[in-house]
Amino acid sequence: MSSVSGAPELIRADGLRLDGRKFDELRPLRIEANVLNRADGSAYIEWGNNKVLAAVYGPREVHPRHLQNAARAIVQAKYNMAAFSVSERKRPGPDRRSQEITKVISEAFTNVVFVDQFPRTTIDCYMEVLQADAGTRCAAMTAASVALADAGIPMRDFLVAVASGRVGGKIVLDLNKEEDNFGEADLPMGIAPRTNEVVLLQMDGHLTYDEFEQALAYNLQAAQVIAKIQREALLRRYAVAAQESLAESLSARGIDLPSTGAPSSSTGINGGI
Ligand code: ADP
Repeated sequence: MSSVSGAPELIRADGLRLDGRKFDELRPLRIEANVLNRADGSAYIEWGNNKVLAAVYGPREVHPRHLQNAARAIVQAKYNMAAFSVSERKRPGPDRRSQEITKVISEAFTNVVFVDQFPRTTIDCYMEVLQADAGTRCAAMTAASVALADAGIPMRDFLVAVASGRVGGKIVLDLNKEEDNFGEADLPMGIAPRTNEVVLLQMDGHLTYDEFEQALAYNLQAAQVIAKIQREALLRRYAVAAQESLAESLSARGIDLPSTGAPSSSTGINGGI
């Protein structure tokens, strides 16, 4: 990422960003857990103009067998951008960028999943970007983390991913496409929010030490907000599931459960921090 001549002014005269956000404000973020019937676990995320589906299968047998690890499970992530996810058609199939993202996401999840509990198996985690607007690797990881929890995969923490960067000389949280294209640096991170452990760090462009510290602080602060939205997505899903199963067992005994107004399954959240 480099500053481009002829780039638009990314910080407005009133001190806000082009889309009206403050420097430390996230784009609107919404997560839905358990959206696919076939997968063991799944999630859908809308983060700004990004839309990503995540599906988890496993732990299951490894194919090809030579990839098996006798001591632990392997976590195989697969990040893919749909051909229709960007305004110019993207050439379908894997490219160097998606292979790199797939590799770093696999490594990040291997750090949080209790892989020792499932030797010789694979946990497959597919992430399909349906609409892309910068920050798709972060959106994909954040959704995949919910899908893993939905699949009942034991993890020592959620994994939250978020990026900060430098735009028009200012450090800002959660870059959109224009900021990503014309900004000076981007720092996506995967964070375990309980301990603030950083399990993935990439940097595109250059930051001074102080700028890095500021971007790190924004990412850590945002990770707490995002982790709360992840938890709420799972709670909404399982509150509904628990109510349905209770109603089913009561109705088998001829008792009707009074309606309590189950929590809404869809809540738009604008997560300024
Ligand atoms: P991230 O999406 O994680 O920020 P990048 O910084 O590599 O990853 O990409 C930024 C944005 O550029 C993407 O979100 C997407 O909107 C766009 N983009 C990436 N790859 C392509 C591509 N092959 N064709 C068109 N647009 C792309």
